[in-house]
Amino acid sequence: MSQDPDLLGKVELSLRSSPALSTSFLGKDHRPVAEIIAADAATLARLGITATDLAKRMQGLAAIARQNLEVPVVVGRIEVYCQQWKGRIGCPWPGCGLFDKTVTVARHLDKGIAASWTDLNMHLIAEHGFFEGIGSPFRVEPQVLVQLLA
Ligand SMILES: [Zn+2]
Repeated sequence: MSQDPDLLGKVELSLRSSPALSTSFLGKDHRPVAEIIAADAATLARLGITATDLAKRMQGLAAIARQNLEVPVVVGRIEVYCQQWKGRIGCPWPGCGLFDKTVTVARHLDKGIAASWTDLNMHLIAEHGFFEGIGSPFRVEPQVLVQLLA
């Protein structure tokens, strides 16, 4: 996944220019966006999976959950359902467009691990390797996702 430093600088400026955006995507994380992405990429590398492959697993479960909406369905040993909210939200990277406010909720039946993620989370992870800042309400922890989905 290539990360253009100029582009990341623009994304950073845009996020930091708005308290609402900054709180939503970065939480209380004061590290530069590039550093957040690099740290999470290092975690994934240690765990032996790429952001792209992790996002593919998330997308597969989200697609199944969407067919059943709020009715939980078990896939392997993972129970998933989704919640749909009105409206759409934009990716902070320019030109990516808008994403449905759909939340996929997943719980491993044996491991006692659960996580939830939005459509935008899947896009941010797949396309930008961005799990969001620590303390952000929508951050998904890479190691939790790997434990849940691997
Ligand atoms: Zn994007």
